[in-house]
Amino acid sequence: MESGATRDLVILGSGPAGLTAAIYAGRAELHPLVLEGEPSSSSDQPGGQLMLTTDVENFPGFTHGVLGPELMVSMRAQAERFGAEILTERASRVDVDSVPIAVWIGDPAAPEPTLRTRTLIIATGARSLMLGLENEARLLGYGVSTCATCDGFFFRGKQIVVVGGGDSALEEALFLTKFGDSVTIVHRRKELRASKIMQDRAFTNEKITFRWDSVVTDVLGGDRVTGVRVRDVNTGEESELAADGVFVAIGHAPSTELFAGQLEMDKAGYLLTREGTRTNVPGVFACGDAQDHIYRQAVTAAGSGCMAAIDAERYLSSLTES
Ligand SMILES: Cc1cc2nc3c(=O)[nH]c(=O)nc-3n(C[C@H](O)[C@H](O)[C@H](O)COP(=O)(O)OP(=O)(O)OC[C@H]3O[C@@H](n4cnc5c(N)ncnc54)[C@H](O)[C@@H]3O)c2cc1C
Repeated sequence: MESGATRDLVILGSGPAGLTAAIYAGRAELHPLVLEGEPSSSSDQPGGQLMLTTDVENFPGFTHGVLGPELMVSMRAQAERFGAEILTERASRVDVDSVPIAVWIGDPAAPEPTLRTRTLIIATGARSLMLGLENEARLLGYGVSTCATCDGFFFRGKQIVVVGGGDSALEEALFLTKFGDSVTIVHRRKELRASKIMQDRAFTNEKITFRWDSVVTDVLGGDRVTGVRVRDVNTGEESELAADGVFVAIGHAPSTELFAGQLEMDKAGYLLTREGTRTNVPGVFACGDAQDHIYRQAVTAAGSGCMAAIDAERYLSSLTES
């Protein structure tokens, strides 16, 4: 890419937030450049998290659902149709205080940025923390999930395992009792980290049982999950637990490391926004899971991507008026 080129809008990320922003910005004739991330980077996923799943049944407009990757390929094509330029690259460094904003691709120590932009939309999403097991990755979307709101419905009348011991693990477990016959929470300690109120709800729910002091050492199954192998951390004894679904609920991490020390974020690293999608730096907007630790859905990410594009367009108009 030509060094020193100044764009009106650069969008970081090609999940539902980034691509929706690109569709809106493209139609507003801002000729957005989207850096979609690099497949070789462990933290990136061109197309975003939905590339890691199979059926998506809750994205409006698809009566019978749609495959996650199919939805993202369509969104990408739609953004390109309106003039978005999409590069399979990751931003390696960003300086949001320089005017125009500076973005590096490749060597972050390079003295000059790769490009400059008047506005920046951050749609770098988040990652679910995983156990790191080979079969967990292989069976993601085939019984392994990280999102009860997204996938609970597929487990009606089934046996479910939830891994974790914090508030979000209990929230997932309680939600899953609406669908599953049984929900077993596997937790590596004897006490939960979750709040007292969530613990009380879980302890009194008759569908929930606990496997204390235990870690999941393998996910079992050929084409679909059939169970997990569990090790007792005190005795070292291994046993198998039958299950149709395994929900890994050990946390999420927003992909916002690039902005540490530059943009306001909460303790967990989620970007703070106000008045729509504005960050604390004029011209820099944030949308999707990078700033949302509550809803974390494709449709909310897409909605906030739309808001970010409209906010960026209005900001650019205000620059030309003044
Ligand atoms: C297995 C699974 C199943 C799910 N199922 C559903 C479902 O059924 N329904 C639903 O509504 N939601 C579902 N979700 C949640 C949904 O996928 C997310 O809420 C949504 O993808 C968030 O969109 P986003 O655009 O904010 O970020 P993401 O989808 O996380 O995309 C982030 C993007 O940023 C890019 N990126 C990161 N860092 C950089 C960088 N430095 N430079 C350039 N690019 C960068 C990545 O490559 C990626 O393209 C699921 C999630 C998972 C993991």
